[in-house]
Amino acid sequence: QSTFKSNTKDPYPDWKAGDPVPYAALCTTFSKIEMTTKRLEIMAHCSLFLRQVLRLTPQDLQPTVLLMLGKLAADYAGIELGIGESLIMKAIGESTGRSLKIIKEDQQKIGDLGLVAAKSKGSQPTMFKPKPLTVRGVHEQLMTIAKIEGSGGQGRKVSGIHKLLSAADANLPKGKGVDIEENKGGPSEAKFIVRTLEGKMRLGLADKTVLVSLAQAMTYHDVMTKTKKAPTTEQLEKGERVLKNVYNYEVIVPAYLENGVFDLHDACKLQPGVPLKPMLAKPTKSITEVLDRFEGKDFTCEYKYDGERAQIHFVAHDADLTYATAAPSAGNSSKGVSNIFSRNSEDLSKKYPDILAKLPTWVKDGTKSFVLDCETVAWDVDEKKVLPFQQLMTRKRKDVKTEDIKVKVCVFAFDLLFLNGEALVNKSFRDRRAKLYEAFKEVEGEFAFAQFGNTNELDAIQVLLEDSIKASCEGLMVKMLDGPESYYEPSRRSQNWLKVKKDYLAGAGDSLDLVVLGAYYGRGKRTNVYGAFLLACYNNSSQQYESVCNIGTGFSEALLESLHETLSPLVIDRPKPFYSHSTGNKDQPDVWFEPRLVWEVKTADLTLSPRYKAAADALGDPSGKGVSLRFPRYIRDRDDKKPDDATTARQVAEMYRKQESVGKNKGPAVDDDF
Ligand code: ATP
Repeated sequence: QSTFKSNTKDPYPDWKAGDPVPYAALCTTFSKIEMTTKRLEIMAHCSLFLRQVLRLTPQDLQPTVLLMLGKLAADYAGIELGIGESLIMKAIGESTGRSLKIIKEDQQKIGDLGLVAAKSKGSQPTMFKPKPLTVRGVHEQLMTIAKIEGSGGQGRKVSGIHKLLSAADANLPKGKGVDIEENKGGPSEAKFIVRTLEGKMRLGLADKTVLVSLAQAMTYHDVMTKTKKAPTTEQLEKGERVLKNVYNYEVIVPAYLENGVFDLHDACKLQPGVPLKPMLAKPTKSITEVLDRFEGKDFTCEYKYDGERAQIHFVAHDADLTYATAAPSAGNSSKGVSNIFSRNSEDLSKKYPDILAKLPTWVKDGTKSFVLDCETVAWDVDEKKVLPFQQLMTRKRKDVKTEDIKVKVCVFAFDLLFLNGEALVNKSFRDRRAKLYEAFKEVEGEFAFAQFGNTNELDAIQVLLEDSIKASCEGLMVKMLDGPESYYEPSRRSQNWLKVKKDYLAGAGDSLDLVVLGAYYGRGKRTNVYGAFLLACYNNSSQQYESVCNIGTGFSEALLESLHETLSPLVIDRPKPFYSHSTGNKDQPDVWFEPRLVWEVKTADLTLSPRYKAAADALGDPSGKGVSLRFPRYIRDRDDKKPDDATTARQVAEMYRKQESVGKNKGPAVDDDF
């Protein structure tokens, strides 16, 4: 990855220093990226373009990077795109003067609204050439559209999209019309605007690739400016390392513009108010696997609480530190400012006002600022014990009033990432835990430290595991205690944290989080609802949802009814082009959906099947078979995960391989993040 040497000419020669970045230039780059599947080539296009931005219009770097990621803002800002097909079709019709009926027919035929938009624009006679779009202008307008709420909101969204599309250039290749054969359509502004609105760029441009390209562009720019020479491989690698270690992607750009790439690490210090992506764990199949992995090291086994991940940020009014302004709805108490962030860095402060209100009573004197990693768990006040996860799910997600709360929660703290002005992530877990105990005190039913035992005896671990289950937990989290291996690794699914769930041991296999793509009408008692569903995992290299099973088990009648209600508005005419599923006639579901819901599913085991496409590329099976789940069972809705956070095709392949070689291959698992 670090062998990037390209120093070819600017990809977009017409743009002058100081001009706003032309949106057409970004679309040209998108189009080049779309035409290749080679990762290095994609990275070179991306990086070369970002270098041009840095040289000519660095002040537009932030919106450029965001649009490359298909986002408008940091996750915690709560700005969502993903606008439904029907609104977009209406806007395409209005802005191009074509009837909705024709647009729908085109969509039926082409199956990609981006291409439909490009085609519609292309067939429209041009009276006058509109003012060229700029990256910052498109970003602003998309932001306006995304923020529209309330009554009449849909109409205003349509006219916002209409405005953007009217100014967009169809820019068709050689005037020949949209190349539907290739299913790509060339560098068209209309196409990419629509895809951004849909929340799916489908360029095969993973977030990770944008990050590495950005690191390369920044390093290149800094070194060239200072020395007039291209950077060495070591310098490029150093730049990449710096970016990967920066805590929050969203703060990188402004910090870079002020400090340059090599001082970025210091400039992007972890600060209360800006969430960092949490560290995640690798699954294991047995306690002996844990012992193999951590042989000769000291480790600790904590209960794995079954609730919702929460990252709590706090700064007291009398601390000599200001709360970062990034978090929009920080809670303000008499003691200080605070926020709760989810696993996806979304702001949960409006869901848990009770936690924010009680927070100051859990801290000891002298604790003035912190970032706490913990799990919120439903709590039975009478029995004084943990309640199942399902109870927690019955809480409202927004605008909760403390006096209306029926399900009480207890916070179980397991890590401390920042204390009194100092980041702790690069301290050993033993030290972080000691500081956690120094800074907080337990309050029954409100705040507790995660239970743990420090042992490396198989029998003792088995007892801890059983005790954790008796205490209504999911199993154990096993963590390294000392040295750099125990440092907190933001956003990484690390092999220094292992999870041991009781289900793995019972032979039921790990659970998966899967996206609902389609459904089959029920029979008999289930005639009026969907009786079974088609689920998929996510391939984050190709950005496709790959089908992995049909599921009809684990649903109550009441649940099926409410799922029918939730899913009906998400029905679409035909599968999205980024759905990968067998084309066999009898394999098709009765209806297809927008990709929105993510469900946790358990399976007996995994097998290969021509009907499904999961991990087919990763496994390279010559007959193109994918992995499928045998006897899948619905466990619960994972509304804390977005479709792109679903179990990845790589993880499915890893699970399949592991199952195939149980007992044979005990080597460490491969890291899937970075
Ligand atoms: P899962 O479905 O198992 O929660 P996940 O992908 O959300 O999977 P994992 O890294 O696989 O996350 O499992 C760790 C999760 O377990 C954390 O995100 C956290 O919510 C929860 N958890 C409960 N107790 C602990 C603990 N003691 N230490 C760390 N995480 C814990």
